Amino acid sequence: MNLPETGMTVDELLAEVARLKEHDLPVRGGQVTAYVYDTGRAEVHEAAARAYFEMLEVNCLDPTAFPSVVEMEKQVVGAVSDLLGGGHGIFTSGGTESIMLAVKAARDFADRARPNLVLPVTAHPAFHKAAHYLGVEVRPVPVDLETFKVAAADVAASIDDGTILVVVSAPSYPQGVIDPVAEVAEVAAAAGVPCHVDACVGGWLLPWLRAAGADVPPFDLSVPGVTSISCDLHKFGYAPKGASVVLFADPAMRRKAYFASAAWPGYTVINATVQSSRSAGPLGGAWATLRTLGRDGYLELGRATWEAAARLRAGLAEIPGLRVLGAPESSLVAFTGAGIDVFVLADEARARGWFLQPQLSYAGIPANLHVTVTGVTLAGVDAMLKVIAESAESARRRGPVVLPDGLVDLVAGLDLESLDDATFAELATSVGVDLSPGAGQPEMSVVNSVLDALPAASREAVLIRFLSVMYR
Ligand SMILES: *Cc1c(COP(=O)(O)O)cnc(C)c1O
Repeated sequence: MNLPETGMTVDELLAEVARLKEHDLPVRGGQVTAYVYDTGRAEVHEAAARAYFEMLEVNCLDPTAFPSVVEMEKQVVGAVSDLLGGGHGIFTSGGTESIMLAVKAARDFADRARPNLVLPVTAHPAFHKAAHYLGVEVRPVPVDLETFKVAAADVAASIDDGTILVVVSAPSYPQGVIDPVAEVAEVAAAAGVPCHVDACVGGWLLPWLRAAGADVPPFDLSVPGVTSISCDLHKFGYAPKGASVVLFADPAMRRKAYFASAAWPGYTVINATVQSSRSAGPLGGAWATLRTLGRDGYLELGRATWEAAARLRAGLAEIPGLRVLGAPESSLVAFTGAGIDVFVLADEARARGWFLQPQLSYAGIPANLHVTVTGVTLAGVDAMLKVIAESAESARRRGPVVLPDGLVDLVAGLDLESLDDATFAELATSVGVDLSPGAGQPEMSVVNSVLDALPAASREAVLIRFLSVMYR
């Protein structure tokens, strides 16, 4: 019975929440090197939680009814635009929504019959999602396999009459490197095409790293030709999830992100975002986080983050069989293995209490593991390196995953439309994935190896089925 017959007490509920979270990865402490961003400062978390709670029931749907929303949003967006070269912004629920709005604005601004989007293969899937939702074709451009950056000339060659937007990342998530923003923005401007900088992960990070001594080229709206930029506050802004900002250089372009409808007999709809009714909690949380940390706080976090990233890169270089991909210019670090199966390494690290994020091979880039270094990493960077070294040694001894003969062909050839959920779940069990509720997933190397061996389209089909079986 999902709905209890009689209401429960707060204590009973909280006990149940604790039980439900038993198998979750920890969100604090720095041993989970993806998904979560921890300042290591309890008072920052408390301020955000309390402001979030105060704003929880305020609805962003109608800013005339709740002026607090307008004032808070102007302050948060203003802080981001001060840091990133000006512009006119919108507070959104996350990077994906910021990107969705940037693509929508560009599409409606250009108004082409067959719109397309030119982006490096390292650009975030949120652009593919936006293009898919908005009926825009994606034109991927390969990156250099040493630097993992796109070349402006290759971007220029992909632009045509239908191009509504060109994308660069600062940095791209997979290898943490910054695309040549100025060069790409220049070729885009020469072709009369807008240029979006995806600074979802880097917007609220790179300026503080620069202050700490990192060599960060100009990447924001101050660069000629850059027309919009996205910056997630729920990443290196350390705000609770649900906080991002998209900025447009031209207010007329921002208006193209908006949506209004008077085509029904109900209340008038004016939305700046994809969502309509929406809690102001995340806005309150982001607002409080920015104010509690202040400039000093972010400078200090940036310094600690930069030092931790430098120590991680140096430490990884000394572990036999591991190699850092490219020359990371931010605090995202990816490494691959020679004679070491990185998926096995990730399982070994997980058994030692550390989560390293696997990245599948793609577009000539080998399978690798990704670490997001944050402010809290510094205190544990030696422990992290020790675990990576031990896990690498164990992975070397265990050897690479050997998949059962024919398994990859079998998966690639599955007719997923006619297969029922129970059969799919059985198949998943046979490769070591327990899809029963509450099962943790300590050993993922077989699954990752199967996925890694499949082309992207088959990976996607299998993953969608996986999700639907998980929620059956
Ligand atoms: C995280 C990220 C996104 C998407 O952000 P969400 O907040 O997860 O929707 C987009 N681009 C880059 C570079 C990112 O790191």
